Amino acid sequence: MIGQTVLGRPIEAVHFTPPSYATPKPPALLFGAIHGDEAVTQLMLERLADELVERPPGRDTWIVPCVNPDGVIAGTRNNANDVDLNRNFGAQNWGTARRPGYNPGTAAEDQPETQALVGLIERVGAHRLIAVHATYRMVNWDGCGEPLAQEMAERCGYPVEHDMGYPTPGSFGAKYGVERRLEVITLEVPYLTVDERGWTDCRSALRWCVDLPSD
Ligand SMILES: [Zn+2]
Repeated sequence: MIGQTVLGRPIEAVHFTPPSYATPKPPALLFGAIHGDEAVTQLMLERLADELVERPPGRDTWIVPCVNPDGVIAGTRNNANDVDLNRNFGAQNWGTARRPGYNPGTAAEDQPETQALVGLIERVGAHRLIAVHATYRMVNWDGCGEPLAQEMAERCGYPVEHDMGYPTPGSFGAKYGVERRLEVITLEVPYLTVDERGWTDCRSALRWCVDLPSD
């Protein structure tokens, strides 16, 4: 457990270590459901975690399938304080360009869910950061994430985008990509449909992020 939500629910992380013969690489961290109405992203990362139980990744990997369990249970984008957690990060542009529904919080990183994620990133020194959102189909990058975005796009068949087309002050990408220049990816995945197309699309792209070869 890496922290608790506003309503006291646990926020869980799973950790996978590479085999001892693997070349050391900077840790990867993947997270989903920072927006509670994107529960499919939690399912995707739980499936990836299931595969990593069977076969370890090629680099140190942390997965937080659900950053915002209060929102998932309530079916809301925001957390239980009605804060959009993806506007709550401590980037220099936090709190600018306010829009209805995108409440950034009273102060940067004042929400327990944001604090839990930020704390984990700092503690493990994660360098490759994958935020999974829904429900477009695209691979967005920030910081030094462009080469990885290209590799992922090749595997999932979604377009690579750099600019989301609207300002996102206080977003995860603003803090860790634009300011800290880490390898930041926002993967936008579709809903799982009856034929499970979304998982089929994204599986090898997600495996690539953690240096797990496609089988
Ligand atoms: Zn989202």
